[in-house]
Amino acid sequence: MSTSAPPKNDAAFENARQTLADVFGYREFRPGQAEVIAAVLAGRDTLAVMPTGGGKSVCYQVPALARERGLTVVVSPLLALMKDQVDTLRQAGVAAAAINSTVARDEQAAVLAQAQSGELRLLYVAPERFSDGSFMTGLRHCQVGLLAIDEAHCISQWGHDFRPSYRDLGGVRAGIGNPPIVALTATADPRVRDDIVARLKLKRPVVHVAGFDRPNLRFDVVPVKSLKAKGEQIADRLRELGTDESAIIYCGTRKRVEEVTDALQKQRIRAARYHAGMPDEDRRRIQEAFARDSLRVIVATNAFGMGIDKPDVRLVVHHDLPESLESYYQEAGRAGRDGGPAECVLLYSPRDRQLREFFIDLSHPPAETVVRVYRALVNDGGNRVHVRELMEQEDEPGINAAVQALVDSGLAERKGYMVRATRPDGIDDIDTAGLDEHREHATRKLDEMERYAQSMTCLRVRILKYFGDGRAQGNCGNCGPCLAPPARYANAEAEGEELELFRELRALRRQFADEQNVPPFTIFSDATLHDIAQRRPRNRAEFLAVSGVGQVKLERYGDAFLALLRPSGLGAEPAPGRMGRAAAPARKERGPRTLSPTAEVTLELARDGASLGEIAAKRGLSSATITTHLAELLASGAIEDPAPWVDNVTLARIRNVIGDGPAGALSPLREKVGDDVSYEQLHLARAFLDRERESRQRARPGT
Ligand code: ADP
Ligand code: MG
Repeated sequence: MSTSAPPKNDAAFENARQTLADVFGYREFRPGQAEVIAAVLAGRDTLAVMPTGGGKSVCYQVPALARERGLTVVVSPLLALMKDQVDTLRQAGVAAAAINSTVARDEQAAVLAQAQSGELRLLYVAPERFSDGSFMTGLRHCQVGLLAIDEAHCISQWGHDFRPSYRDLGGVRAGIGNPPIVALTATADPRVRDDIVARLKLKRPVVHVAGFDRPNLRFDVVPVKSLKAKGEQIADRLRELGTDESAIIYCGTRKRVEEVTDALQKQRIRAARYHAGMPDEDRRRIQEAFARDSLRVIVATNAFGMGIDKPDVRLVVHHDLPESLESYYQEAGRAGRDGGPAECVLLYSPRDRQLREFFIDLSHPPAETVVRVYRALVNDGGNRVHVRELMEQEDEPGINAAVQALVDSGLAERKGYMVRATRPDGIDDIDTAGLDEHREHATRKLDEMERYAQSMTCLRVRILKYFGDGRAQGNCGNCGPCLAPPARYANAEAEGEELELFRELRALRRQFADEQNVPPFTIFSDATLHDIAQRRPRNRAEFLAVSGVGQVKLERYGDAFLALLRPSGLGAEPAPGRMGRAAAPARKERGPRTLSPTAEVTLELARDGASLGEIAAKRGLSSATITTHLAELLASGAIEDPAPWVDNVTLARIRNVIGDGPAGALSPLREKVGDDVSYEQLHLARAFLDRERESRQRARPGT
């Protein structure tokens, strides 16, 4: 494997940097991204190993867009994952689409036509797609510049997510014009990496293993004596979590998922369950509700996760010991993808190991068991035998896996529960060494996991060492063992003002998301909303400087969010001393207001007597945006009467609730006024009433 780094300072790379800023709104590459992107742009096969949440998507999306033309084909294992990626890209104005089993034939044809014309830049597909003849014919007429394989560890049987559909990807490149390949994974296991390189037939690949640290994640292990205590821990953690925050609780078995969910629901903590035993439809619905923030807590087996790109999960608790540190880091790493603080808690009871050992017995029986089963079948002279008869004691684990191993090596045949030997002389064809190696491999991984659970020293250092960062040492200051008990909960209390503004921003994001029927995070991540709340941009240039705001998002949402931040909006009178010092002076500038040009246009239409919906339709903007314009117009006095949008009775009700003080945030206001009043009405009434109060105060100098 080659690791020689291609240049990072040529013109192509400069384009990449520009793309990162213009399209994605990020100023800096995250660790590893620049190296991977430079390699991809130089036309090299590349294997990128980065932690979950490390920013792998950008590694192929930026090269896809930094070049003037060419299609990037992205292989992704799950429909939900594809959908979120496509939604997110489209929000940023990128021509992206997915072709999979849920897309109708004629739509597939339309997408392929777009791909052929060069209009489409990224095409997401499931691996099965490549065995579809008409799809491959269609692709041959496209100029495929890059083949990206996401979650590439799915190709390896040594990995924890092996998918048979990934196995044949090695042959795909030749069929689509031999583009370079970039493979991406979060798996650290060297064996899996070697497998990826071999099976995808990567040529002289640049292998980049990025730093595995996720400094924003706080790791903790909580020793727990009983199941009951685990339940209590989880309930407490969820109560501590803000009501708006998302969490995932991972359990080792479906049964545990059921129990934990029931227990939470009994305590009136809203949570949904998720495991592979549930109907697809239910699973899809729950996953979607989670993505869309209408569901905050999910209790799940490891079946939940690979499709979860949700960036704002704030807490991941493991109820049971995972099988390996890889699985643990992958699952825990689903917290805090947005870079904001998040917690990863492992509840550990020494008895947990038994459950894992049982799973190892189940899927990796010792070689001697496989041999024994084979002998029993041969002794039966090739007659069909029920699997149960092959067990030495009732429910002996691993017999199914043993039979499967025999079937895989051509020594046995099975139909349902009935098995028979196909030839009597195959004992030497049983790969006993291979079987034992798999079993030992799994046991070693479990040992490592348990050492983590029992660690008295820095958990982060332990993880980083495991992932191959030999330099990791000392105290990270952000994990259980590194934090003295009182410090553990410091900083938890976010600044009240900022938090309130954040909620407002989130409500506005929600309006846009609901209007367009997409998950909120595809519009802005929580990290972006926090950045907005902190910086309080006053104009478009400042808004563009927010992390996560690119050109298209500025155009689409800038005005609406800026309007929310204007003095007529929330927090017009910051409590002295509470606000960030840098932000405070900006809030004091209350000179004559000038209208934003876009609000002027809305003003013209409003003067013509158009309704909110009509203005929105005419301007091709959302009604949420128009509402923010109207609020701005009411606050500035350009429009004097909110009557066309807020009837007198409603206005009086709102005035009653607000009284003489500033109106404050919308959500609490709505709680008091009643939810038959719409957010739009509240927003407009608030702008009007704030102005009314201001002019009253001006009329009485000295007060
Ligand atoms: P992975 O696939 O490695 O788990 P993602 O590609 O889903 O991670 O990225 C996680 C989050 O990080 C996303 O919200 C993404 O927009 C954000 N992100 C990616 N690159 C950057 C960057 N350079 N600066 C800031 N945020 C980034
Ligand atoms: Mg990813």
